[in-house]
Amino acid sequence: MEPMLRGVGVSHGVAIGPVRHMGTAVLEPPATQIPSEDAPREQARAQAAVDAVAADLIARGNLAGGEAQAVLEAQALMAQDPELMADVSRRIAVGSSAERGIYDAFAAYRALLAAAGDYLAGRVADLDDVRNRIVARLLGVPMPGVPDSDEPYVLFAHDLAPADTALLDPTLVLGFVTEEGGPTSHSAILARALGVPAVVALPGATGVAEGLVVAVDGSSGEVLVNPSAERQEELRRLAAERKAALAASSGPGRTSDGHLVPLLANIGGPADLPAALEAEAEGVGLFRTEFLFLDDSAKAPSEEKQFEAYRKVLEAFPERRVVVRVLDAGADKPLDFLTPADEPNPALGVRGLRTLLDHPEVLAAQLRALARAAEGLPVHLEVMAPMVADRQDAKAFADACREAGLAAKFGAMVEIPSAALRARSILQEVEFLSLGTNDLAQYTFAADRQVGAVARLQDPWQPALLDLVALSAEAAQLTGKSCGVCGEAAADPLLACVLTGLGVTSLSMGASSIPYVRTALAKVTLAQCRRAAAAARAVDSAADARAAAHQVLTGE
Ligand code: PEP
Ligand code: MG
Repeated sequence: MEPMLRGVGVSHGVAIGPVRHMGTAVLEPPATQIPSEDAPREQARAQAAVDAVAADLIARGNLAGGEAQAVLEAQALMAQDPELMADVSRRIAVGSSAERGIYDAFAAYRALLAAAGDYLAGRVADLDDVRNRIVARLLGVPMPGVPDSDEPYVLFAHDLAPADTALLDPTLVLGFVTEEGGPTSHSAILARALGVPAVVALPGATGVAEGLVVAVDGSSGEVLVNPSAERQEELRRLAAERKAALAASSGPGRTSDGHLVPLLANIGGPADLPAALEAEAEGVGLFRTEFLFLDDSAKAPSEEKQFEAYRKVLEAFPERRVVVRVLDAGADKPLDFLTPADEPNPALGVRGLRTLLDHPEVLAAQLRALARAAEGLPVHLEVMAPMVADRQDAKAFADACREAGLAAKFGAMVEIPSAALRARSILQEVEFLSLGTNDLAQYTFAADRQVGAVARLQDPWQPALLDLVALSAEAAQLTGKSCGVCGEAAADPLLACVLTGLGVTSLSMGASSIPYVRTALAKVTLAQCRRAAAAARAVDSAADARAAAHQVLTGE
């Protein structure tokens, strides 16, 4: 039997392919002295590594073509700069190892570049990349950052930060496995956005050997290491059967007795639209606009750039709801120009709406861009604020929307327990609620969503979390307003039925989960959903809640 590892499955589907590790930052090579007789050998090692990296950059450039080719060729030239290589040789001659000589010579060159005015200073990042590649090759460790590969692979990482995501080629990444991260971490969200299977919180993930074939089941959380060819074949066949059954699902989200629960898509920008449309999303339930800001964390994107992105999204869903969340910066999504650098505990600091209220010009520019983008389009624009704590926050946000002349519904995300407890008072100021169950779980259980060790508490089946969902949904019902879920909880097909039973009015998720949730809802009645919700809230652990709901919904 092949070894089986188990983590938390966070994005459905099966991926089979070779392991490639996300390289960590290159360590500083030790500054030990080498005997002088070793110098020629070290110089040859350094030269060979430089040549190999330069050849690799040129080969990649040939494959990529266009602007990328020019950039990669310039990097190859940097690597082979004769002055730089002469400096490396000199350093090795007086006792440096090959890796230390490269490291120090590049540091000196880097300082020169950084001091040489804007254009050359801008090349520092390219130079660092070249140095990291050469040092990694000499140390025999994976290249830092996203793996270089022309073949599809399963990405193994300690964790993935939002900034890594921009660099991933979705045609090459078959799936993710991470050592850290919980069901609501950005690794999980990204995997769902890309529609690839993923397992997080898998102890020992970073120790699985590069190149070994693994089979990742993103539903069960199982990772088989080195499965036999027959086993791979069987897994592929089962996955294809499951996919075909799901592909047959279509139409609006509804229970078997016709209770409608719109199934909306979570997106990070226009690039996610094709998948949302293909999954027949009934609109967008969460447009995470911060991804527009992550490209360059030193300044806000121009109003024009924002306008273009918003317009594309609004145009894709005529006559449909599009819920845009204003910038959610801070904590795990810091932006240099907005986020205080010295907070002792950023998750409890100035983040989300708090950041925007401290920088009203950023919020105003975003709302203006949105107002322009919606002009003349037959769309139902809704705008919501992240991290609303109380009625005062909700009012400040609604006032800003009104000032910007936005023709939209204004809403508040429920991500802080205080907002769920006082949902009725918040609804005095806004027209809808959207439950961000990822942060709501983080703050309810004092369990950092990035930390795999506390994934148990991040489980959205925790009855205390279900209680807060129920409070919010009841408040919305009493005031005749809507209350959706846009946290990752909505992507779990069984839990989606329970949320429906709790009174939630729409479910928003990564597009790849929509067919799973549609299929699950279509098999049960609203009364069953309500009974499952009551059963899940009547017990005292996430596991018991899941088992109780499963029993009610499937009879098993
Ligand atoms: C949430 O917290 O549930 C949410 C939807 O927002 P994000 O995951 O972007 O913090
Ligand atoms: Mg959140």
